[in-house]
Amino acid sequence: MATIEILGKYCNSEKVKFAGYYYSELSGERKQRCQCLSCNRKFQWEAIK
Ligand SMILES: [Zn+2]
Repeated sequence: MATIEILGKYCNSEKVKFAGYYYSELSGERKQRCQCLSCNRKFQWEAIK
Protein backbone atom coordinates (compact mmCIF):
# COMPACT_ATOMS: atom_id res chain seq x y z
CA MET A 1 0.00 0.00 0.00
CA ALA A 2 1.38 3.36 -0.97
CA THR A 3 1.73 5.90 1.75
CA ILE A 4 1.98 9.64 1.54
CA GLU A 5 4.19 11.40 3.99
CA ILE A 6 3.21 14.88 4.95
CA LEU A 7 5.00 17.15 7.33
CA GLY A 8 3.80 20.41 8.75
CA LYS A 9 5.69 23.29 7.25
CA TYR A 10 5.81 25.21 10.50
CA CYS A 11 6.30 22.73 13.30
CA ASN A 12 7.21 19.51 11.43
CA SER A 13 4.26 17.74 12.99
CA GLU A 14 3.16 14.56 11.28
CA LYS A 15 -0.41 15.13 12.42
CA VAL A 16 -1.92 16.81 9.41
CA LYS A 17 -5.13 16.39 7.48
CA PHE A 18 -6.27 17.40 4.03
CA ALA A 19 -8.18 20.65 4.18
CA GLY A 20 -9.55 21.09 0.70
CA TYR A 21 -7.98 22.89 -2.20
CA TYR A 22 -6.85 26.31 -3.15
CA TYR A 23 -6.30 27.92 -6.51
CA SER A 24 -3.01 29.44 -7.46
CA GLU A 25 -3.60 32.96 -8.72
CA LEU A 26 -0.53 32.79 -10.91
CA SER A 27 -1.04 29.49 -12.68
CA GLY A 28 -4.73 28.88 -12.01
CA GLU A 29 -3.91 25.35 -10.88
CA ARG A 30 -5.83 23.62 -8.17
CA LYS A 31 -3.55 22.52 -5.38
CA GLN A 32 -4.07 20.35 -2.35
CA ARG A 33 -4.08 22.10 0.98
CA CYS A 34 -3.37 20.58 4.36
CA GLN A 35 -3.96 21.62 7.90
CA CYS A 36 -1.67 20.86 10.78
CA LEU A 37 -3.55 19.38 13.72
CA SER A 38 -0.92 20.57 16.16
CA CYS A 39 -0.88 24.27 15.37
CA ASN A 40 -3.94 24.50 13.07
CA ARG A 41 -2.00 26.27 10.37
CA LYS A 42 -2.82 25.58 6.77
CA PHE A 43 -0.25 25.05 4.10
CA GLN A 44 0.24 23.65 0.65
CA TRP A 45 0.54 19.92 0.37
CA GLU A 46 4.05 18.78 -0.43
CA ALA A 47 5.11 15.20 -0.96
CA ILE A 48 8.30 14.15 0.72
CA LYS A 49 10.61 12.87 -1.95
ZN1 LIG B 1 1.96 22.64 12.93
